[in-house]
Amino acid sequence: MGKRILICGCMLLLLSYAFVRYCRTEQRQGSGKAQGGYAKIFCESGETLRLFNKRIKLGFLNSLLRTRTEKDLSVESQLSGKIDVIVERVETILEMRPRNFTIALHVLPDADKVKELYRKKYFRNVDFVAFYAPSEKAVYIAADEAKAVILAHELAHAVIDQYFGVAAPVKIHEILAQYVEENFEE
Ligand SMILES: [Zn+2]
Repeated sequence: MGKRILICGCMLLLLSYAFVRYCRTEQRQGSGKAQGGYAKIFCESGETLRLFNKRIKLGFLNSLLRTRTEKDLSVESQLSGKIDVIVERVETILEMRPRNFTIALHVLPDADKVKELYRKKYFRNVDFVAFYAPSEKAVYIAADEAKAVILAHELAHAVIDQYFGVAAPVKIHEILAQYVEENFEE
């Protein structure tokens, strides 16, 4: 439960945040491109990105990867494929499929960087390993503590956000994101 509270800092963020909906002009790129699929991935170092990729294990969802030659792909392409699978798993669990879903995924080296960035953006000290920033349609996550289920939780916030088109009540957001977490590996 404690860990969940850590992960779910995004909830508090949403509390203090009234955001304006804006048109989505980005179109989903073809699967298999380095920055393709649902996510645009941002990471300052190749080492951090490799660590993140290593920690994001799909488990039984592995069979859903569209690409079968994973060892031949770049780290970015491997990740892009995994994120697509996770997004679709989240959408299936929630039964919400927002049109033209896109997300910016910022992979940071560790939780300290996540906390630092959160403090800079929202002027609050928190103890999160990941959070969702609705105004940017972005997830920030620590590579060294990342797990597929944590990413799924944050992506759930993004899916809910983009599905409803207006800010859903915070409680609904968090209950649904936790529901995704609980059902992700079943
Ligand atoms: Zn949350």
